[in-house]
Amino acid sequence: MTDTDTTAKTALITGANKGIGFHIARALGAEGLTVLIGARSQERGEAAAATLRGEGLDARFLHLDVTDEASVAAAAKRVESEFGSLDILVNNAGIALADGDWNTSELTVATTRKVFETNVIGVVSVTNALLPLIRKADAGRIVNVSSEVGSLGFMTDPNQPFASMQGGAYGASKSALNMLTVSWAKELASTSIKINAMTPGYTATDLNANQGTRRPEDAAKAAVELALIGEDGPNGGFFQEGNEYFDTDVVPW
Ligand code: NAP
Repeated sequence: MTDTDTTAKTALITGANKGIGFHIARALGAEGLTVLIGARSQERGEAAAATLRGEGLDARFLHLDVTDEASVAAAAKRVESEFGSLDILVNNAGIALADGDWNTSELTVATTRKVFETNVIGVVSVTNALLPLIRKADAGRIVNVSSEVGSLGFMTDPNQPFASMQGGAYGASKSALNMLTVSWAKELASTSIKINAMTPGYTATDLNANQGTRRPEDAAKAAVELALIGEDGPNGGFFQEGNEYFDTDVVPW
């Protein structure tokens, strides 16, 4: 894969105030891109952007609650007025909620709705609002941060560590995100835009009370790579970086 020229490019990362999103923003900023720190909290978003600016990166807070259409529309408007186009969108914001002991039979409608609102509908909202600006970029890139728990292939493979695990609303939301990725990729195949899904692996963040085994800076790598792929890079795939569980970079759907 040929990395694209990152000079004067702009990347928006949703949920970039902490966790994996923060490290995706830091790595893209270190490549010379202007990074827009999408965050629903002004305080947390400003603080994250300030940290990255302190490291010499061009990082700017962008208020963005992916579940709030007015917030999404306002963010798109700001990107349009300040930059005119958007080179990279990383749909990273996500939540993992469950009821009881993660048994699917215990899952409530309220939890399911909440998870889908952020992890699926939020991505539709943000992506479709920004797509007109991504189309204006020379070679737009969209990366959807999915999960191995959304892979029906992994979840049903007795040789994978997920064989005995239930995906619940979280896994179902990531499977839905994967299908959206495939669908957008088909629609955009005739353009210069490329859209892919990736999984960061089980990573120590607030999402899992820091129980994950990967470091967020390592978990960010596959997303950064997919954000910077050249013309010869993939479109409509599902990837991961090799890690302690996996030795391949292609994830089964
Ligand atoms: P995290 O530390 O909890 O970070 C999640 C980020 O999403 C936070 O910045 C959070 O903002 C933001 N967010 C949540 N709801 C939002 C909303 N409505 N609007 C805007 N931002 C919102 O979790 P993480 O582990 O870094 O997760 C990042 C992505 O990786 C998620 O999509 C997750 O599903 C995926 N993932 C994580 C793992 C893992 O093991 N950690 C594994 C596979 C996939 P606040 O600070 O305001 O809450």
